[in-house]
Amino acid sequence: MKILVAGGGIGGVYAAALLKKAGHDVTLFEKEKRVEDMRYDWHDDVNPGVFGRLSLPIPEGSYPKKNWTFITPFEKGKMPLKQREDLIDLSVHRKKLNAVLFDLASDVDVEWGTEAVSAICDENCVKGLIINKDGTQTEVFGDLVIDACGVFSPIRKSLPVSFGIPDVKRESVFYVKRAFFKAKKGVPFPQDTNKVYMKHIGQKGISWCIACDNGVVDVLIGRVGYMDDKIFSEALDDLKKNNPILSDEQIGAASLCTIPVRRPLSKLVANGYVCIGDAACLTVPMIGSGIATSLLAASFLAETIESSDSSSAEALWPYQVAVYKEFGAEHCAVETMKNWLLEQKNDDIHFFLTSGILRNEDLQRASVGKMMKLEFPDVLHKGLVGMRRPALLFNTLKMLSSADRAKKTASGIPKRYDEKKVASWQNKSDGNFL
Ligand SMILES: Cc1cc2nc3c(=O)[nH]c(=O)nc-3n(C[C@H](O)[C@H](O)[C@H](O)COP(=O)(O)OP(=O)(O)OC[C@H]3O[C@@H](n4cnc5c(N)ncnc54)[C@H](O)[C@@H]3O)c2cc1C
Repeated sequence: MKILVAGGGIGGVYAAALLKKAGHDVTLFEKEKRVEDMRYDWHDDVNPGVFGRLSLPIPEGSYPKKNWTFITPFEKGKMPLKQREDLIDLSVHRKKLNAVLFDLASDVDVEWGTEAVSAICDENCVKGLIINKDGTQTEVFGDLVIDACGVFSPIRKSLPVSFGIPDVKRESVFYVKRAFFKAKKGVPFPQDTNKVYMKHIGQKGISWCIACDNGVVDVLIGRVGYMDDKIFSEALDDLKKNNPILSDEQIGAASLCTIPVRRPLSKLVANGYVCIGDAACLTVPMIGSGIATSLLAASFLAETIESSDSSSAEALWPYQVAVYKEFGAEHCAVETMKNWLLEQKNDDIHFFLTSGILRNEDLQRASVGKMMKLEFPDVLHKGLVGMRRPALLFNTLKMLSSADRAKKTASGIPKRYDEKKVASWQNKSDGNFL
């Protein structure tokens, strides 16, 4: 099969490597000019299990992540997470992981400095891509386009509505700035090294402040749907006030980036087209991790193509079923919880995190992308919580039931492709989020 990969996203590169190895003719179009220019120069947290499961080498210099401490709005309270040893994330350098993946993809034909502009479609099929190199647009044709161009992929956006691939709204995206600062000299190293702020200064989003062992403080400020310099500097001032280790000496510029924080799209495939990574919204809605899920998805895609050798929507459908089975249905529950948390009053979030409703096991689950179970520790405690905040208790139980419904609906994904059945499942599944 002739396969065109649009964008060198993590899942796109890994899928390209696997499909090339399986004997396909694979070309990848990446807008950056060289592999060294790609990806951010920082560490990301990745579930360590994925490397063993996919037999991928762990990038050199990776180290175990320290435990998070969750901070309630306006730094009113905190809840530390004690992670189970086997679930502790690995901090992996993104450029090094990228180098590992490009090593695996060394036989793939990579067209550097080439932007994928839009899909070429006929009535019911994607036939190829329009690409732009040095200002010249060209058409390239293939049997399958793999879209790994990120959350606002122009390829996905160019598809006819009739293909049924949903669009992504701004409100489902975190706008994030991440910046690094020198640690202030003469200030004691904090006990809570990795702080994550829920609804930081009462705004919809999160921030983090991580005191690293190498004398650097890692700051991330993320807000739902929008971010500007004013929001960033107000949030940064607050972090400085509450984290004496954070100095004014910034190392490099803060880059503005986007992370989808929603369930996977309800349709990932069309005739001749499949999306992966952020283009498919495979990130964990609560924490925005998308590296492990994108790698897993690439392996499902390669297996799917191996077993059918066709690029029809019907032949590609098992890829989507595998994604939903592995984590997509769970992410529907997690998104319900995330949306709910963002709507709660600051004081209720404080109570939720510190009253004992939320247990260490719940945070452990959330930090690996799973839905919190929120089994109230005992009847007595439930009664006490109920007496202190009856509305919150009712509200929480309602959210748990909605999350359960969203997961059940998503798990009911048709196992075989049938256009009408798929459209009806999409309506039901997306309907849970209206
Ligand atoms: C600040 C921040 C922190 C994060 N932290 C973590 C973390 O700790 N752990 C984790 O698992 N995930 C994390 N993520 C999420 C993670 O980066 C993504 O989910 C994951 O990399 C999958 O994204 P992607 O590969 O699909 O897209 P991207 O990484 O955005 O890659 C898209 C690629 O396509 C190229 N491209 C884009 N448009 C075009 C085009 N039109 N034509 C050609 N090429 C194009 C880009 O140059 C890029 O190489 C974080 C994200 C951000 C922004």
